[in-house]
Amino acid sequence: MSEYSYEKKLDILIIGAGVIGCSIAYFLAKESQGKLKIGVLERNTIGEESSSGAAGMLAVGAEFNPSHPLFTLALESRDMFEALAPELKQISGVDIQYVKHGICSIAYDQKEEDALRSRLEEQKLCSLGCEYIAPENLQQRFPFLNRRSLGGLWSPNDGHVSSSRLTLAFSQAAQKLGVQFFEMESFDAFKPGKGVLNCVETNLSKFSAHQYIFATGSWTGKLLGGQAPVEPVKGQILLFEIPKNWPYLNSWRAPIYLGTTPTPSPIGCYMVPKLDGHIWVGATMEHRGFDKSENKSATETLSRYAAEIFPELATFPFKGTWVGLRPGTPDQLPILGLLPETENVYVASGHFRNGILLAPITGKLFAELILKEEPLPPQFSPERWKTTAIG
Ligand SMILES: Cc1cc2nc3c(=O)[nH]c(=O)nc-3n(C[C@H](O)[C@H](O)[C@H](O)COP(=O)(O)OP(=O)(O)OC[C@H]3O[C@@H](n4cnc5c(N)ncnc54)[C@H](O)[C@@H]3O)c2cc1C
Repeated sequence: MSEYSYEKKLDILIIGAGVIGCSIAYFLAKESQGKLKIGVLERNTIGEESSSGAAGMLAVGAEFNPSHPLFTLALESRDMFEALAPELKQISGVDIQYVKHGICSIAYDQKEEDALRSRLEEQKLCSLGCEYIAPENLQQRFPFLNRRSLGGLWSPNDGHVSSSRLTLAFSQAAQKLGVQFFEMESFDAFKPGKGVLNCVETNLSKFSAHQYIFATGSWTGKLLGGQAPVEPVKGQILLFEIPKNWPYLNSWRAPIYLGTTPTPSPIGCYMVPKLDGHIWVGATMEHRGFDKSENKSATETLSRYAAEIFPELATFPFKGTWVGLRPGTPDQLPILGLLPETENVYVASGHFRNGILLAPITGKLFAELILKEEPLPPQFSPERWKTTAIG
């Protein structure tokens, strides 16, 4: 008799039900048309970690120079949202609150202006539609901001979504297409061996699969070791409720980057107006291991700085702080590919500040890999850590 409460035999086992694991599950189920038995194993509940409260910005023009190694993937992924939003709504019934109204990065000093103008110069070669807006025009667009700026970079095709709804929509659509989710099951004492991985044993059960995909976010380094060096980078966001009678409640839709707070510990500040009537003000960045307690002095600095530029914010009801762990890597690029020396253990992690933006393309790439044997982009392979890990 088995010592487990159940044993599962699958084609693919995805470990981790954040936005990345759920996207991979969805694209695999959709593209395989029910021919694969797919399971997703989650230690907690679906989307409970980093994917639950991220700002959800789809910031390509606003954040990437075209020479950045992620630029092409980020652009393709951002543009997938246009079709994905109605598709996910139709299958899952969940509205991901996709908004495509642009993102604006404002410069408040010469250094910031130079950086934005030089990004724009590079971007001109690839028709993103970005433009530099003069200070007076900026004031017309965002009349509630009161600090004199040096203008800003306007990226018209960027946008934002609700991160928690996106994760929910992927997971519910995947379930409609036959994927099984196993929540509240854990296995923390895993050691990746060489060759073929036969099974994963949790506190409750045993899973055997032909292929395993680790989409375990910030915990990936802990589980898989030095060849997948993903570590948590803590981030905090503040939530404010927009009063119902605020004149710009229904017209302000574009997130705004407001530069950085003054030294000694600068924090990059942005504000995202959400469709549910909240403003999200982010975000801190700290290396504190898996500690998710609030750093009050950092959130105070952030809120003070945002209110200097947007004074009315200080009068809006404060609804709390959200803390999440971004899956960071030493080169700030995701890790996508086969774990070295294994034959069936894949990594899909390390999406750092861009996991919401990159979720669709990650799901699509893994579906193409598994179903059509199309290789993943080699520059993101865990092979790049091989020497470091052995040495
Ligand atoms: C403050 C903040 C703001 C952000 N803003 C943006 C933004 O505007 N745009 C954007 O694109 N990105 C943003 N991000 C980044 C984004 O949130 C992440 O990149 C993304 O959520 C990572 O998704 P994931 O699925 O890899 O990780 P997670 O969401 O962390 O999911 C990993 C899952 O794996 C599970 N797991 C771990 N170990 C095990 C195990 N042994 N067994 C079973 N399950 C396990 C965990 O419980 C978890 O549910 C932000 C992040 C933060 C913190």
